[in-house]
Amino acid sequence: MKTTLIKNGTLVLGQTVAQQDLLIRGEKIAAVGDLSTMPANETIDARDLLLLPGGVDTHVHFNDVFMNTISVHDYYTGTLAALHGGTTSVIDFSNQAPGATLMSTIETKHEEAKGLALVDWGVHPVITQPTGATLAEIPAVVAAGSPTIKCYLTYREEGLLIEEPDLRRILAGLRDAGGMLLVHAEDNDLIEEKLPRFLDAGLTSAKYHTESKPPQVENTAIARCINMVREVGGRLFIVHMTTSAGVSMVGVARGEGLDVHAETCTHYLVFTHEMLHREDGLKWICSPPLRDQATQDSLWTGLRDGRLVQVTSDDAAYSWEATKYGKDRFDLCPNGMGGVEPRFHVLYSEGVAKERISLPRFVEIIATNPARIFGLYPRKGTLLPGADADIVLFDPSAKWTMGQANSHSCNDWHAYEGLEITGKICQVYSRGQLLIDGEECLAQKGRGRYLHRHLPRQ
Ligand SMILES: [Zn+2]
Repeated sequence: MKTTLIKNGTLVLGQTVAQQDLLIRGEKIAAVGDLSTMPANETIDARDLLLLPGGVDTHVHFNDVFMNTISVHDYYTGTLAALHGGTTSVIDFSNQAPGATLMSTIETKHEEAKGLALVDWGVHPVITQPTGATLAEIPAVVAAGSPTIKCYLTYREEGLLIEEPDLRRILAGLRDAGGMLLVHAEDNDLIEEKLPRFLDAGLTSAKYHTESKPPQVENTAIARCINMVREVGGRLFIVHMTTSAGVSMVGVARGEGLDVHAETCTHYLVFTHEMLHREDGLKWICSPPLRDQATQDSLWTGLRDGRLVQVTSDDAAYSWEATKYGKDRFDLCPNGMGGVEPRFHVLYSEGVAKERISLPRFVEIIATNPARIFGLYPRKGTLLPGADADIVLFDPSAKWTMGQANSHSCNDWHAYEGLEITGKICQVYSRGQLLIDGEECLAQKGRGRYLHRHLPRQ
């Protein structure tokens, strides 16, 4: 088996940051430590570079049919962007089609990934038809390695809304099967009450998107979900959390011993609702919406103190033409922006370089925690011997400007255009293979494998 020795890098392992060598044998990390005398087929000098585990992004939307369009990232273009952004594992959402089984959500993604995926990929099935037959499938889906099922608490017109009695049954089903419920927490009743008032009053430009979904919309849904866990038990994960009250509620729930976790996403840590006031403000329409500066500060606090466990991209890239569906009515804009490539660089630059989070904490929130919580640890998310050799070589001192000119996404606009970045990815390995070497991508289409996941008992 081929061996590669990466020497003299500054390696992050748990809370330790130290100059170490790392040996790759085949697809795995074989050893870490002082290996300077170790023979290897190939030796790389990583002096002045950081050695980090490949990113794990558990929140991407590839081939997502949504709001009269489809996200532009498929399994080739999406994983190409991921790789250039240092991410070597992605977990994608798969909506249950009307009349289709829950199992078909996994099969669909196998079809989509076949011959295209460059990195390892997993699936979160999304329940849209909460029938008895669907619920009865939960144990099989968990056993098939996709034990994390998502439900939307809104988007009635998109056919995604799950009402509370059904949500309760799904949570109980997952509890019994060893799975975890993911929720998009926005209260549909409040949205359906507020939105028509804006439309009737002619308040339809992008900036009213945030006003139509104040923090109360999210907080009401978060409180309902946490209460459900109090009564039913089970495991709950709140995706893309954006409010300070949400961060507090999760802290309290965890204090009570409930199995509740929450993440936030890159864009909530960088942008505020001010972006929606721009002429091209439509680009920053996402749900939940961007909030104010004080709220953004509380998300960074939550990341530091552990109430928020990870940062994902919520990559939902729509073309500018599709985004403009919302030109005259914000509620017709496909919600979301690309982010699977920017996440790693932006989080390092805004987090570590600006001293908001430590380097070990960065590694936790970008790789280790998502791997742990979503059933991939210690195969992914760490540089421990025995793990898959998914490795990023990173120059912490490089400075550059992020934008469309150096993007590897196929989309025609960039949400982070002009953002000054400190730190740059030099090389990316996935399962021992060098796939990104500077600007070059060496990955073969279809090499990515299905991530069969199993949640640890807690
Ligand atoms: Zn999402």
